[in-house]
Formats: sequence, C-alpha cells, structure tokens
Amino acid sequence: MPNATLQPKRTVSELKELRALTGNADGAQRVAFTETWDKARTWMREKLAKLPVEVHQDAAGNQWATLKGKSEKELLIGGHIDSVPDGGWLDGCLNVVAGLEVLRRIASEGAPPVTVRLVDWCDEEGARFGRSLFGSSACSGALDPNEVRNLTDRDGIKLVDAVRKYEIDLDRALDAKKELKNAAAYLELHIEQGPVLESLNLPMGPVLGTFGVERHAITFTGQAAHSGSTPMAHRRDALAGTSRLHLAIREIAVRHGGVCTVGKVTTEPGIVTAVVGKAEMTLDQRHLDARTLAAMYDDAKRASEQIAREEKIEVAWKKIWQIQPFPFHSKLIEMADAAIKEVCGASHRLPSGPLHDAAEVCRAGVPTVMLFVQSLRGISHNKIEDTKEEHLEMSVKALDRLASETMKWISP
Ligand SMILES: [Zn+2]
Repeated sequence: MPNATLQPKRTVSELKELRALTGNADGAQRVAFTETWDKARTWMREKLAKLPVEVHQDAAGNQWATLKGKSEKELLIGGHIDSVPDGGWLDGCLNVVAGLEVLRRIASEGAPPVTVRLVDWCDEEGARFGRSLFGSSACSGALDPNEVRNLTDRDGIKLVDAVRKYEIDLDRALDAKKELKNAAAYLELHIEQGPVLESLNLPMGPVLGTFGVERHAITFTGQAAHSGSTPMAHRRDALAGTSRLHLAIREIAVRHGGVCTVGKVTTEPGIVTAVVGKAEMTLDQRHLDARTLAAMYDDAKRASEQIAREEKIEVAWKKIWQIQPFPFHSKLIEMADAAIKEVCGASHRLPSGPLHDAAEVCRAGVPTVMLFVQSLRGISHNKIEDTKEEHLEMSVKALDRLASETMKWISP
C-alpha cells in the first residue's frame, strides 16, 4: 500500500497552524529575514525533528531536510515558507508543508530507493530588499553577491548585514551550489495565483515552465505646444505614440499567444492645456518560448518605429530587465499530468507567468516540474488568497504520487 500513511488533511490543519502562528488580521507576515520568518522555520524544524532526516541550513540560508536513500541520487521537493507582508496563507508554504507530509509517508516505508530532500528556499519573495529568489539563485549560481550587497530595506539596513543575523555570509552564499550536486529531479507544488484553472473548473494542472520576460522603457518625443493655437495637422503629439503602441502590443500579444502589458505612462509637460512633448511608457512582454518572445519584442519595436514615422515624433527604447523562459522537463510534465489525472480525473497544462524557485533549479540543469492547484478568484499576495480544502488535499495526493513515480524514474 504505497499511500497508506499519507494524511492530506494533516497538511491542511498544519497550514492553519502556521497561519495562526505567523499571521494576523492583515494576512501572513513571514517576510524573509524577520523574527516571524524565523519562527516559521523553527516550527518546521520541530516537525522535521520527528523524522529520520538530517536538517541543516546551507550557505545561502536555504533549509534542507535529507532522508538518506539507497542511492546518492536525490529527489528534491521544494517551496518557500517566506511570504510578502500581508500575504496569503498558501503562497510558498503549501509546497513546504505538503512536502513534509510526503516526506513522512516515504520515511514510514524505510530507506527509499533514492535520497529524498525537502528544501525551504531562502527569501523567494524578495519582499524586504526587492530581490526575489535569493536562496535558489545562489544554488543555481545566478546570484551576484556584489549586485545585492548594498540593497537596503525601508529602514536603511543593508542586505549584507540583515542576512548575517541569520548566519548567512553573503560572500560565501554561492557555496550553496554544492547542494544541487546529486539532484536528479525537482518537484514544486504551488497555488496557481491566476484565474485559469478556476475558469476551467479544474483543481490542478502541470506547469509547462516559467515565462521569459522582456521589460523596457519606451520614450516618444514630439513637441509640446499650446492646446488652443496648434491645429491638429501641425501637432507632433508624443502621447499619440504611447496610445497607438499600447493598442498595437495588445494585438501582438494575442497574435503570438503571449502577454504584453503597458503598466505605466507618464507625460510632459502633463498639463491640461498642452500637447504632450514627451511620453514615456513601460512595456512588459512574456512568453514561454524564447523565439516567440523575441518575435513579440521585434514586432513591438517595429510598430513603435512605424508609429513614430507616421506621427512625426521620435522613439527610443531602454531595457529595464530581461530573463529567458525556463521550459520544464518534458518527461516530468507527462508524469505530473498522469499523477493529476489519477487524483483529480482531469488536468490542464499551463505556463507560469510569475517566476518561482523552480526556474532557478531548472537553470541549474536539474530536471524540474511544478504542479499548480486552483486559486479561488485568481487572487494572491493578499490576505483573501484561498484554495478549497478538497483541492489542497488533492494537491498533497498528486505531489505524493508524482514523488513516487519520480523516484522510480531516477532510480539507478
Ligand atoms: Zn510563491
């Protein structure tokens, strides 16, 4: 009986226990590198102490629990116990608490065929210093300590000093890379944080990968002029550039099956009686396929140049940030799909818009997949974030099933 001891209801009650311990009327308060976060991690260590596992914190502050198996090859299950301020009760910690239940089940059956490790990544959210994926990007080697050293929080405290309090020496953080040496597969269960599964009336779906992102600032420059004395035909209206480009990028997104967003527009002089002389907009484009993402970027750039010509204005682009897509492992996606179908009856494969620690593990070359469970109203990073308890229980079962299949798959 493979699942004899799995108790998905215990996961739900432990999630409530964690909420009571580390939340308040405004939501979850487990911001990384704070006392409440530390309290949550101590709570987890107390749970882990009842299992035959070795627990340690690595050089980047990630907390690992290792159940030795017959092989050195490792199955990793991971999530993050940290939250945003006033966060939801499930984002991040569902993965860790469900992983704990799966670890209990596996441990109850004696030494597993491969080594199984549960990891609580350090500071996924980046809520205090504005740098997400701290611990997992140290493991992948993508973290540059010098880039984050002097980031400051609201009180002017530097990251390098804040992390020292939690026994992390920033200059040694990349030593955490060695934790992935024997990793053969990585599984992460997470709430969807979007509306797709709910709109399909499905509890769960396997994740195809995380979107790549192109983020740019685009400035149109025309000529500021009097709103009364300048006839329409004589205007060089910079806002016409942003307005027309905004409409164009919506079509580009639909045509390529991606998402494109203009989140901010500012104008100068920005008064009611002047034609706009300078208009700046942000553009955020996301797609799972690198070539298609590049095509969306090219299309937007070409559209902006054509609009500038037609409006007799100038356009300039400046890169804000960019990340490649991380498609997950095709065999693991198949296995995740099968596990979900067994538990829930149906499944729907979907990409992830938000980044997750799984992207960093994938970057490090470890075969990776995520499972999404439905989010009610698609809301997250908010105290009203919620998922039906029956779906939470299904998600623990699906993760458990996938863990068993993955152990077979990576067994030597
Ligand atoms: Zn999360």
